[in-house]
Amino acid sequence: MIEVKNARKSFGQNHVLKDVSLHVNDGDVVVILGPSGSGKTTLLRCINFLEKADGGTLTVGDKTVDFRKASKSDILEIRRKTAFVFQNYNLFQNKTALENVMEGLVTARKVPKETARTRAQEALEWVGLADKWDAYPSQLSGGQQQRVGIARAVVLDPEVILFDEPTSALDPELVGETLAVIRRVAKTGITMIVVTHEMAFAQEAANHVIFMDGGVVVEEGSPNEIFVNPKEERTKKFLSRIL
Ligand code: ADP
Repeated sequence: MIEVKNARKSFGQNHVLKDVSLHVNDGDVVVILGPSGSGKTTLLRCINFLEKADGGTLTVGDKTVDFRKASKSDILEIRRKTAFVFQNYNLFQNKTALENVMEGLVTARKVPKETARTRAQEALEWVGLADKWDAYPSQLSGGQQQRVGIARAVVLDPEVILFDEPTSALDPELVGETLAVIRRVAKTGITMIVVTHEMAFAQEAANHVIFMDGGVVVEEGSPNEIFVNPKEERTKKFLSRIL
């Protein structure tokens, strides 16, 4: 279970998260939609402490922390329970696909190297990259790099995977293969929070949709409630522009 209560975050005078709360059940696939600049990525980054929120609380599983007062060990504990898939993959350029996937297991989880190697190989095979273990990121397509990014998150067996616009840096012809892998992750039953502009994916893969605008959650509900029967004007306007 993930719970965010009253999250606030400003960059200078820019109040990016005004008072955001959300509740995610185990096994949920939550999609966060909203116009550019509405605070979606910042919210996701706060959940993983890539950004430090100015106020509010976060619960991941049995751990609750105050965003502002979280200690280093609190942050490490939250990070152990969460994994992040970045828009721009964020792979180590000087490491192979296999080494990228092993890295978190060896350094953060203290898994012995040989076990980490086996698990990383399995994870790469699972995302369809069994033949690319020894390739460096520069030798892979964007879609393949993102699949390494997904393997790196999945191999950690976290309580939740946070996907930050995972396909928006990809050439259009590579989006499908990446979404297919994300659907595959969703089918494992792992809890996921996905920021995306891929509406077809949201409609079909999500069981809960959150619409954000201007640093607040405007509306949330099932895909049917949001896509077919949106209640709020701002949601209707957003959907009419993009569907
Ligand atoms: P979204 O993901 O909905 O497009 P973001 O969370 O990326 O929105 O950004 C929301 C606002 O916060 C934007 O105005 C953006 O410029 C600002 N912002 C995000 N990150 C930073 C940062 N590190 N420093 C300053 N401003 C930021």
